[in-house]
Amino acid sequence: MRIYLFVNREFDQNCYCVFDDTKEAVVIDPGCPADIVENFLAKESLTLKQILLTHGHFDHIISAEELSKWSGAPISASRAEASLLKDPKLNLSAYSFSRPITLMPGRWLDNGDSVLFGGETLLTIHTPGHSPGGVCFYSKEHHVIFTGDTLFWETVGRTDFNLSDGEQLTRCIYEKLLVLPGETVVYPGHGRPTDINHERMIHKQVN
Ligand SMILES: [Zn+2]
Repeated sequence: MRIYLFVNREFDQNCYCVFDDTKEAVVIDPGCPADIVENFLAKESLTLKQILLTHGHFDHIISAEELSKWSGAPISASRAEASLLKDPKLNLSAYSFSRPITLMPGRWLDNGDSVLFGGETLLTIHTPGHSPGGVCFYSKEHHVIFTGDTLFWETVGRTDFNLSDGEQLTRCIYEKLLVLPGETVVYPGHGRPTDINHERMIHKQVN
């Protein structure tokens, strides 16, 4: 499995392209300009199979529709994120970005759903709290998890938005993420990567 990172410097947001030797790819959280991702996919001769959203906040979905139209790949997001995705106020695009965004994913994901591409499997883990439909995408085989705005290096996602729930977020982090194998590398929606061992230590100290 190969992972390529694009950073949208305006919001310090991480967009990932994940692919393997079969040249099939997924893009997670397209917050950077679509042409940057498109150029990369073309240069590497990759076929985009799905556009995965860890959640619906504007900085993670800016290029989703354009990339979907360009590639024909469906947008996949948690069913629990539906109301946020279609409401520019709830997804914050009404306030933070010049263009209000409404999205209608082609595939709804539920907890435990597998995302398949090439020889890879990403497991959908529902981790609400930062937003109701927050999900993480986990590769058990490669010990890698994409955590969106749920878990970051030495900190966790904000819970001061409409529809956020701090207690729920904490519970998900302890019960669903910190129980993963310690060597699991965490690729968050903002900032540097970390791993579960390190975050276990940090969260033990805090609590
Ligand atoms: Zn967010």
